[in-house]
Amino acid sequence: MAKKQFKAESKRLLEMMINSIYTQKEIFLRELISNASDAIDKIYYKALSDEQMVFNKEDYYIQISVDEASRTLTISDTGIGMTDKELETNLGVIAKSGSLAFKQENEAQEDHHIIGQFGVGFYSAFMVADEVTVTSRALGSEEAYQWFSKGADGYTIKPAEKAEVGTDIVLKIKENTEDEQYDEFLQEYRLKAIIKKYSDFIRYPIKMEVSVQKPKEGSENEFETVREEQTINSMVPIWRRNKNELTKEDYTNFYNEKRYGFDQPLKYTHVRAEGAVVYNAILFIPESTPFDYYTKEYEKGLELYSNGVLIMEKCADLLPDYFSFVKGMVDSEDLSLNISREMLQHDRQLKLIAKNIKSKIKSMLQGMLNNEREDYEKFYKAFGRQLKYGVYSEYGMHKDDLQDLLLFYSSKEKKLVSLSEYVSRMPEEQKYIYYAAGESIERIDKLPQTERVADKGFEILYFTEDIDEFAIKMLQQYKEKEFRSVSSGDLGIEDEAENKASEAEGDNKELLEKMQTLLEGKVKSVKVSKRLKSHPVCLSAEGELSIEMEKVLKAMPDGGNVQADKVLEINVEHEVFQSLKAAYASDEEKFKLYTHLLYNQALLIEGLPIQDPVEFTNDICKVMV
Ligand code: ADP
Ligand code: MG
Repeated sequence: MAKKQFKAESKRLLEMMINSIYTQKEIFLRELISNASDAIDKIYYKALSDEQMVFNKEDYYIQISVDEASRTLTISDTGIGMTDKELETNLGVIAKSGSLAFKQENEAQEDHHIIGQFGVGFYSAFMVADEVTVTSRALGSEEAYQWFSKGADGYTIKPAEKAEVGTDIVLKIKENTEDEQYDEFLQEYRLKAIIKKYSDFIRYPIKMEVSVQKPKEGSENEFETVREEQTINSMVPIWRRNKNELTKEDYTNFYNEKRYGFDQPLKYTHVRAEGAVVYNAILFIPESTPFDYYTKEYEKGLELYSNGVLIMEKCADLLPDYFSFVKGMVDSEDLSLNISREMLQHDRQLKLIAKNIKSKIKSMLQGMLNNEREDYEKFYKAFGRQLKYGVYSEYGMHKDDLQDLLLFYSSKEKKLVSLSEYVSRMPEEQKYIYYAAGESIERIDKLPQTERVADKGFEILYFTEDIDEFAIKMLQQYKEKEFRSVSSGDLGIEDEAENKASEAEGDNKELLEKMQTLLEGKVKSVKVSKRLKSHPVCLSAEGELSIEMEKVLKAMPDGGNVQADKVLEINVEHEVFQSLKAAYASDEEKFKLYTHLLYNQALLIEGLPIQDPVEFTNDICKVMV
């Protein structure tokens, strides 16, 4: 039988994995046991839809056996098995190229969790074995086949003998080297511990023959060593167990074993609902953003069980989009087993559960925000954007659920604050919740538009993400306080500046109109600024669309034509205005030059492109010589 090569990229990935990716070698056993359990699940599903098939629970188990002399460890299952074709496709190609590309980009990070994302679990066997033999007989087939490989140099598949349907995986465990120990994977107590640690909730028995001390027959104090088959795993699903008996570690192990994420859970909650609907659920907030989270590829959903049996891996209907980051499972006795996807969407029970779960998640997050601020901020960094999308989406219909979970950077506190914290600090005379939008905190700190509001001692929320201003426009107000951009025409601040500005506006009416004519098509109007203190000019916008929003929309594929109604604001207190005035009175060319310079300066400050940079630098030269 000719030896076949692994697909090229599989080969590279395999070498990489064996040598570096996993730091804990012991997880190979979790991988192989999970595969065995999956294979039994598959038979179970088949039996559900096939009336001819009977599923006797006792017939399905996973067997672990060790032979120290030949250094072999065998993992057998009575699962669905693989045909020769399936051996080829399932074990011959390791990962899709997209996943490999991702891995390569992240090569620098030593993250041993990451591998499972690619469905390459099986190959972890090569971390501890230098030969792997898979003998399998598929359900409904009389023939068996054997797959054999020594690692990166390829594999062979040939016919074999196997009496029962299922799969035997035999690992020839590596010899100890100077730096690495492998003998432990041939020791019963070590294997037992690994199974307990990772695979305790596997729903089928994991059996293993072990040595135990038993009193000798007919004797009270003499013992003998006998071999006895034990079931190592407890099998009771974690969500059925008493919360008080469970530790944080149990939940974390569950999260890892279930492959909910390749990080650690930041927070979890174990729900037992007994009311209109009866269900158990464990919900996790992941610690970090999955690499595909903000892409179309990401699929939200919770595992759905009916009475302990998995009926759907990712039930999307259980989670609103804005909580799509939540991982976990729901088990309900009220759902029927053979329910189809279409029926589920209309299932009244499921809708009730979903509603219930939504409020559990909300209160879990709110609790974190109130009591574990540091964790909440970590969460918010990873998924805050999703909450803001939630506020914005579906015409703002979820805003009441989400507004209290939002955080923004505060000019005063120099950290993230909630809207309710902001409002509670508002002085009586402050009418609005002020915000400033820009690329970064540093950029906004320097925005001339913030001066007047900051000078009044009012707090400003910094919007640094594209979505921020759109979300806030959807909210409109919070606790009856309206949101106001610092660049808005009416800041609601009544003071001297207000009167002075309207006075100056009247005094310089012609000059301003002349400027406006010169900037025809570029700005909607030229006005005396009420907000500037030390800067000569700035841009603001009239109407609903702000300059920041214009930038965001312009960056979108079909947003090319939107225009904010821009206003060029002039600080009449600034020395530059005197020069401008002088030029207006005596030198038309100079006035034109100054007008364009000021306009371009305002564009620069706003982070907008200058239409003609060459002309701009020429203009500066004109002023200098
Ligand atoms: P994943 O489990 O993430 O799909 P693995 O590398 O662990 O990736 O396994 C690859 C595939 O090989 C599985 O999806 C399954 O189809 C098949 N497989 C592995 N082990 C077994 C087994 N014991 N019985 C049946 N099929 C198996
Ligand atoms: Mg697997």
